[in-house]
Amino acid sequence: MFRNPAIVDIVEKYRPLWALDSMGSLLEWDMETYMPSGSSAQRGVMIAETQLLRQERILQLVDSVSKAEKSTELDDVEKGFLRVLKRDLDYFTKIPPKLLEDILRTTTEGTVVWREARKKSQFSIFKPYLEKIVDLKRQEAEKLGYTGHPYNALMDRFEEGITTDDVDRIFSALSSQLKEILTKVLSAGKFPRTHPLEDFSYNPASMKLVNEEALKLLQMPEATFRMDVSTHPFTTSMSVEDVRITTRYEGRNFKASLFSTVHESGHAIYELQIDPTLNYTPLSRATSLGVHESQSRFWENFVGRSREFMGRIYPSLKSNLPFVAEYSEAEVYRYVNSVKPSLIRVDADEVTYNFHIMLRYELEKKLIGGEMEVTEAPLVWADLMEKYVGVRPLNDAEGILQDVHWSGGMIGYFATYSLGNVLAGMFYDRIQRDLDLKATVASGDISMIKVWLREKLHKYGAIYSPKELQTRVFGETYNPQMLIRYLQEKYLSDQ
Ligand code: MG
Repeated sequence: MFRNPAIVDIVEKYRPLWALDSMGSLLEWDMETYMPSGSSAQRGVMIAETQLLRQERILQLVDSVSKAEKSTELDDVEKGFLRVLKRDLDYFTKIPPKLLEDILRTTTEGTVVWREARKKSQFSIFKPYLEKIVDLKRQEAEKLGYTGHPYNALMDRFEEGITTDDVDRIFSALSSQLKEILTKVLSAGKFPRTHPLEDFSYNPASMKLVNEEALKLLQMPEATFRMDVSTHPFTTSMSVEDVRITTRYEGRNFKASLFSTVHESGHAIYELQIDPTLNYTPLSRATSLGVHESQSRFWENFVGRSREFMGRIYPSLKSNLPFVAEYSEAEVYRYVNSVKPSLIRVDADEVTYNFHIMLRYELEKKLIGGEMEVTEAPLVWADLMEKYVGVRPLNDAEGILQDVHWSGGMIGYFATYSLGNVLAGMFYDRIQRDLDLKATVASGDISMIKVWLREKLHKYGAIYSPKELQTRVFGETYNPQMLIRYLQEKYLSDQ
């Protein structure tokens, strides 16, 4: 795979770093799934020490990387290897250890305080931490450097090359057109706001059988994949041959469990289909969070919430959840696609979801740009929620305290959720030029879809930056029109 001797030398040195990365993932996976709750303090130390070791070791690569950069004969894989490594190195060389330590300490404490504040629905408890975190993140942006808005430096950590100009363009197109779709879908009645199926309780053991059927339909490999349970579902990868997801069982409203499973499986399919020759290198991961999210949303919404997928999963729903038998397949399809303006992002439907992201993006941009004080944030949140979604939170837990991201210092992250939706729309549009997506899902054998995604996207891992990758596949970047067209067809057409 790698031929240039300077690169081969770094690849060998990178192996222990790759191993430390994987160990970190395994520690975190265990913490969220099976770890006894009493050992959380020690686990925090284990994770932090693993990260510090990794940081020390990666800084030892600085000379080799600058030497390799002088090579003139590098192929795409080798260029990608250096690009990804340099991004990592760049971060640790630009951010002073004191600032890194402050960020780590403040966000570790901040997350604990945020949990308490959310429980009591009292923003004032979390406020001093958010102020500190915003201040530290502004310092981080200054150290990293940026052109245009300082927020660009923070977004780039999650989505390489994305700028506020890109996101402003995408959101201005989305907001007006989504508003129109939302108004129409709410008055048309093709999809309900609420559905009686939301209220039925299910037995988690029976629901697990449905989820296992979904995994079978998605052809998840038994030898390299597993599913467990956690409060907040996630996907993690120890290597290209060990990818794990979690799902949730809340005991009612079964679609949350089913679509968590399908969503996370979408993330897992990406990780599992990365070219195995990239193992042990920093290229054996997704190129960005937005691209990663495009895969989960593609499988969750464009495939999972389709009539055709419902046709495949309905028999299992009916035999495992007795109350479903009272409802036709068409009714279950209406239930999984209900549209209702609501306060909580994680429960939002396809039509309203992006409004939640616009709100957080606007707030973060203002906070980092120094155009707004943290004190003003809860009120601005409520006003923006009313403006975009049409509902107003009654308390802080329903509003500003609902997401974990800020307490963990993940500022600049949110836009990637919408970028994922936009990209999923682009993949949906493009794949249909090569195969009949609906007929393929209806046939029960989705392998052609996985092959298509592997060849166009997955196998490359992080070789290409998200914008390079899009240019290769689509000839353009982050075009929101395909998502809009899909939503119009699904929610407004008469079929
Ligand atoms: Mg996701």
